[in-house]
Amino acid sequence: MKKIAILTSGGDSQGMNTAIRAVTKAAINKGMKVYGIKRGYKGMLEDQISPLTLLDVSGIADKGGTILLSARLPEFKDPEVRAKAAANLKKYGIDGLVVIGGDGSFHGAHYLYEEHGIKTIGIPGTIDNDVAGTDYTVGYDTALNIILDAISKLKDTATSHERTYLVEVMGRNCGDLALYSAIAGGASGVMIPEKESSIDDLAEVIKKRRADGKLYDIIVVAEGVGNVVQLKEELAKRVNTSIRVTILGHIQRGGAPTAFDRILATRLGVRAVELIEEEKGGLMVGIQSEEVTTHKLSYAWENYSKASSADYVIANMLSL
Ligand code: ATP
Repeated sequence: MKKIAILTSGGDSQGMNTAIRAVTKAAINKGMKVYGIKRGYKGMLEDQISPLTLLDVSGIADKGGTILLSARLPEFKDPEVRAKAAANLKKYGIDGLVVIGGDGSFHGAHYLYEEHGIKTIGIPGTIDNDVAGTDYTVGYDTALNIILDAISKLKDTATSHERTYLVEVMGRNCGDLALYSAIAGGASGVMIPEKESSIDDLAEVIKKRRADGKLYDIIVVAEGVGNVVQLKEELAKRVNTSIRVTILGHIQRGGAPTAFDRILATRLGVRAVELIEEEKGGLMVGIQSEEVTTHKLSYAWENYSKASSADYVIANMLSL
């Protein structure tokens, strides 16, 4: 009987549970035995490995977080640490491993395949959308919708008090959450790490909006841009509106996954199991132009491309 394991690693994201459920059900359906590894690579190293049953994954498709828990283990960059962790898997006769996480987690999966022949398959699970080889990562759509909800609420109070809001959103070095929440949320401006933006230009937009009779401004700032409080201070030297900073923080990572993320997680989870069944490893699955695709794990970081310039132009064109 083929034995496979699943782990979640790095920052959690909505839809990780949906993916765990899909992998477990699909694998059991194909006659495989499934193991869950708690706390990512840390649990793999510390032998926190136990069987995962249909009952364990019952009722979790719509739950945020991850029932397998997540952790970071920087020591996994050390080949000796990886060898110990790989030996734990082999002890159970496990030769397939589904890793749900971001590009850091994919690095670990890549080395486990290259160094120890473990058939690793990566499912991109992160709200940041910073993985190449997939148009969307699992959790991104849910986080985007959480940000949109927050922007709508902030617009209400911003208007009442005629304020400028700087809304900091997550994404690490990727500006996708900021850019697309700005477009979908009708923001007055956006700052992302991939594009040079000037505080002077932002100040001009605010002044023009106020001269036109507009009562509020919502500026979305990606966390990768830098310190949003310093940005507020710089902006305050240039405009005379009341400015507030709202940092959305980890709220963006919680709650029920959207239908989009659930369907994505399920399709990718089932494909991951099929690939292991086909004796393949060292691969990632993704969604590109509506099709489920596979690439080598290294594709995820070697082909990462910066935010869309055309969409950045659109966001700014509509800021006034
Ligand atoms: P997110 O960006 O959403 O938090 P991620 O998977 O990129 O997800 P990281 O913290 O970068 O998150 O990586 C998760 C774990 O993957 C690390 O704690 C470490 O155990 C492992 N990892 C990261 N980079 C490497 C690497 N270069 N080599 C081996 N393992 C790595």
